[in-house]
Amino acid sequence: FLKGKTALITGSTSGIGLGYAKALAAQGANIMINGFGETEEIADIIKELQSSSGSGAVYSAADMTLPGQIRAMVADCNRELGGPDILINNAGIQHVAPVDEFSEDKWDAILAIILSSAFHTTKAALPTMKSAGWGRIINTGSMHSLVASPYKSAYNAAKHGLAGLTKTIALEVATQGITVNCICPGYVWTSLVENQIPDTMKARGLTRDEVINDVLLANQPQKKFVQVDQLAALALFLCRDEASAITGTNLSVDGGWTAQ
Ligand code: NAD
Repeated sequence: FLKGKTALITGSTSGIGLGYAKALAAQGANIMINGFGETEEIADIIKELQSSSGSGAVYSAADMTLPGQIRAMVADCNRELGGPDILINNAGIQHVAPVDEFSEDKWDAILAIILSSAFHTTKAALPTMKSAGWGRIINTGSMHSLVASPYKSAYNAAKHGLAGLTKTIALEVATQGITVNCICPGYVWTSLVENQIPDTMKARGLTRDEVINDVLLANQPQKKFVQVDQLAALALFLCRDEASAITGTNLSVDGGWTAQ
């Protein structure tokens, strides 16, 4: 149902973003992926997306900390594939440390990648969506867009900020056929989660199993990780005409985390 539409997904060389890219491609959308990774792996992803969509798929190496590269990415997308009609702001990194020991560089990088990049992509992409009278902006928030956990000051601040940005833009474009929503996952088993285990072990003096069961899943009532496919299915639904009245929302897919 997305034939002729173009989706630009930041941070889509792995994890949740790659799941979104595959799901949208399977519905025929042109796809621009973005993120870091090995050249060969990225080439394989592009081939897979092209063959499943029968449409175009290209890669942008733009660094989401650099506004100039972000603007160039959106312009490249428009020139090479059209659109973007669907923009998914998904790039993210994590850093876990008490605030009084928190690296200033990590603070700046997390705010830039998660929050400021979504401002820059949205600003650059909106004119095309407005002239088409149709658009979908989906931001990957987190349960940490809505509630906090200790030792994640930058991430929680950035994700709460993204929830506010989502609502603001939704209001600004409410009459123009464009919806803006935040998907807020609980813990999803991806490399982002796996990579924060060693730092959490250090910060809390725990073993790997203790971090998984007593920290990560402690507050996730279903006691299992959210699956990438479950998030991708929701993103697809948000792209449907049936979802045109859903805007400005934070949609939790968190196994009950924020019900507490
Ligand atoms: P991931 O590490 O698999 O994916 C992150 C992606 O962002 C990768 O493609 C990476 O290359 C890209 N990226 C990182 N820095 C970048 C930069 N400077 N410029 C461009 N791309 C960059 O992790 P994931 O779990 O799939 O995370 C995707 C999103 O989901 C993030 O925003 C994350 O905060 C959010 N999220 C994840 C979970 C979880 O439990 N995994 C939970 C809630 C929210």
